[in-house]
Amino acid sequence: MKRFSLKIGRSVALAMVLALAGANVARGEWLKDQRELMGTQVTVELWADDIESGKKVIRQVFDEVQRLDEMMNPWNPKSELSRINREAANRAVVTTPEVMEVVTKALYYSRLSNGAFDISFASVGQHYDYRTGRSPDEKTLNADKTNIDYQAIILDPKASTLFFSRPGLQIDLGGIAKGYAVDAGVDILRRAGVVAAVVGAGGDSRILGDLGNRPRVIGIRHPRNKDEYAVVVPLADTAISTSGDYERFFMTDGVRYHHILDPQTGRSASQVQSASVIATKAIDSDALSTTSFVLGVERGLELINSLPGIDAIIIDGQGKLHYSQELLLSTK
Ligand code: ADP
Ligand code: MG
Repeated sequence: MKRFSLKIGRSVALAMVLALAGANVARGEWLKDQRELMGTQVTVELWADDIESGKKVIRQVFDEVQRLDEMMNPWNPKSELSRINREAANRAVVTTPEVMEVVTKALYYSRLSNGAFDISFASVGQHYDYRTGRSPDEKTLNADKTNIDYQAIILDPKASTLFFSRPGLQIDLGGIAKGYAVDAGVDILRRAGVVAAVVGAGGDSRILGDLGNRPRVIGIRHPRNKDEYAVVVPLADTAISTSGDYERFFMTDGVRYHHILDPQTGRSASQVQSASVIATKAIDSDALSTTSFVLGVERGLELINSLPGIDAIIIDGQGKLHYSQELLLSTK
């Protein structure tokens, strides 16, 4: 495993200062629990001064993530998202503030990336099943590809409605909802007075505070060897998300079909093996990791370098690591 020390803006600087000072959090205990939610493992780890109230707040986080999962799950016909997919092409559908917030952010990243991030990828994405190895035939793919168009998702923030101006358009929030849920979890912890915690949902994690006397070290998995880290990053008070082509995939005739689609082709984006993004909030790191994965090394880093306070580590098709400017400067 390659050890790596990166200076990542204020967060790490703060963590290092605390590490050197040997700062101690008051007496208490680290608590950890996990639940299967949002199609992945959701983990909450926190420093609790009082064990019972610590356990209680962990349950509150799981309850909140479950509530969001029930709202945004595309596979559950009873979810708010499924209702939108059924009705929004016929009329403007009044939806929840949570869905409005996530879709608004998603459209922001669609515009910023010129459509590399597009929740309407699902117009084609709905025909893939990575567990059973199902993919759309050429005819279906070409027909439904035209329905990938974020500009046909019309929001009315005042009325809190969503409308699809293309009949075949479908949306899926899988590239951004876990980040939103992680942030919601961290908000609950902060309101409860928790000062050190990690909330994780699959490839998305957010760190609140630090480990008491050192930064939390987060490993970015080696894309082709699951027992190895490609790099480890010390972080505090920040979010990190990784999008990889090894999470959900199947192989057919040597081609890797995985869950991140290039909206231009309707097929799996194939330029890189993984893209990790570090940002203050997990909703941003989540959307941007998926976005950078689709854009590839050059265009991905160009976008990340244009966003102050946001960093990325992209692993290209050959397994080589590429860093955004700020990270590169700090390793020199
Ligand atoms: P993970 O679910 O593995 O944590 P990511 O954050 O990388 O994943 O997001 C992958 C998910 O994003 C896919 O499962 C799918 O739901 C969604 N997605 C795939 N392609 C796109 C795209 N081009 N734009 C927006 N969302 C996408
Ligand atoms: Mg993502």
